[in-house]
Amino acid sequence: MGEKIRLLVVDDSPFIHKAVKKALAGNDGIEIVGTAENGRICLDLVAQLSPDIVTLDVTMPVMDGLETAEVLAAQHPGVRVIMLSAMGDEDLVQRARNLGVSHFLTKPFEATQLRRAIFDVLREGV
Ligand SMILES: [Mg+2]
Repeated sequence: MGEKIRLLVVDDSPFIHKAVKKALAGNDGIEIVGTAENGRICLDLVAQLSPDIVTLDVTMPVMDGLETAEVLAAQHPGVRVIMLSAMGDEDLVQRARNLGVSHFLTKPFEATQLRRAIFDVLREGV
């Protein structure tokens, strides 16, 4: 585990990009390699940046988190997904579970919850 964990943050809210960066500040083992505002940009950046983990918002314009999770599972099965959902997304969360997404955080999240989810999702392996 000499390599840093590569994280891509996907959310249409810049506030969440900032919140994730703040939560992981000073954590030398994790590198935020990029941010995306929707699933379409996410898929482009996954191909370019090869992240280990994507934090994925559910409700986004252009391509939502559910659709994105489905494409990631099909085209990039090695990329782990942590869904960051707001309250009220329960139906979408259930559908994401059916696509194999096992890790969810509810916004707003605590820094410790995010760090724990990152290490838990990696420990499960591919
Ligand atoms: Mg959103």
